[in-house]
Amino acid sequence: MIAPIDATHDPARPCWVVGAVGHRDFPIQNLPLGIFSAGDERRGGIAIGDFVLDLRALAASRLLDGPAQAAAEAASGPTLNPLLGLGSVPRLALRRRVSELLSEREQRGRVAPLLHAAADCVLHLPAAIGDYTDFYAGIHHASNVGRLFRPDNPLLPNYKYVPIGYHGRASSVRSSDTGVVRPVGQRKPPEAAVPLFGPTQRLDYELEMGAWIGPGNDLGSPIAIGEAEGHVAGLCLLNDWSARDIQAWEYQPLGPFLAKSFATTVSPWIVTAEALAPFRIAQPPRPASEPAPLPHLFDAEDQARGAYAIRLEAALLTANMRASGLPSHPLSSGQMSAMYWTIAQLVAHHASNGCNLRPGDLLGTGTISAPTPDGYGSLLEITNGGATPLALPNGETRSFLQDGDEVILTAHAEAEGFATIGFGPCRGTILPARA
Ligand code: CA
Repeated sequence: MIAPIDATHDPARPCWVVGAVGHRDFPIQNLPLGIFSAGDERRGGIAIGDFVLDLRALAASRLLDGPAQAAAEAASGPTLNPLLGLGSVPRLALRRRVSELLSEREQRGRVAPLLHAAADCVLHLPAAIGDYTDFYAGIHHASNVGRLFRPDNPLLPNYKYVPIGYHGRASSVRSSDTGVVRPVGQRKPPEAAVPLFGPTQRLDYELEMGAWIGPGNDLGSPIAIGEAEGHVAGLCLLNDWSARDIQAWEYQPLGPFLAKSFATTVSPWIVTAEALAPFRIAQPPRPASEPAPLPHLFDAEDQARGAYAIRLEAALLTANMRASGLPSHPLSSGQMSAMYWTIAQLVAHHASNGCNLRPGDLLGTGTISAPTPDGYGSLLEITNGGATPLALPNGETRSFLQDGDEVILTAHAEAEGFATIGFGPCRGTILPARA
């Protein structure tokens, strides 16, 4: 079941929080969930404009009851795993009550003391991530990268039947604005007789979305495709930092390992399935020449509304640009709908062998690239494997990332007749290798 559209999505909904109406990321129609601290303990919060609503204080306020109170209590600790495990009913009740409290002027006196200025808050990972899996559902990225390695046969024959993925490293997932230390590893340049060991020379980003798992499934009990939506609590941005030279040397025959496991960055707010209801769109139809999904991955409602109208952007700010006061340089702009599989299909596939997903698990979509170069989601694609360096406005060039470079990912859900909502930035700056 896809979440309903209700009064919380009304684009005319008032909000008494200063600066929240028309906020680029966090107007009252969004109300994303996260974990913050303000010089003290970590606890759950909801972003509203340039403020964070303290859910632990809200749970103690007597302003809630029933499932909304249960949700706020579950969000009072240092991770949102307990809330994520409760599923959509308490999450929706909390959303509806918080929307009322932030829109009704007579509530201002009681609720305003529960707000913290976002500038005074540190944002943390929203959940303790038990497992992180990264898929490869961006078909244009898969085709572009495949073409670099196999010009005549970019997509392997399994791609259109099975959502390709690998098990990533959960321990190195970090919230936005955590520095990314340049990894050291084995690489074997074509001209070298034996592999070298040292800092990666081909450090890249990957523009992805992430899905946070809500309720899990029991080991041995698959998730039916028609039930998969109920297991997705919401989405975030995800940067799958990648060392291309380490990757090229290590990836056969078992796939990515140290080229990816050194760091993954996510945007800190979970934009909930409920907030995203107005932005659900049809999964782009497959050409008649391509195989239909196998029955365990096909659901008519998922095909009709399983994709998202979310625009993704990546930008680069080099150390020189920062020192000169220059703005970041746009790298790409594309749509999340450039995915060959829906999020529900990724979830159903993941659990189809009986693998148990758990609250707070993180699924990456894989790099989302547009079919055209203005929407390529990695430097590997933008620079054609490093062969065509990117020219920046200040005269610098980049084949891959240099120390001091900051990659900034942003995303906004957009639909006619609804308020645009955003994810907040997913940023990371490259720090020098530690030898
Ligand atoms: Ca990836």
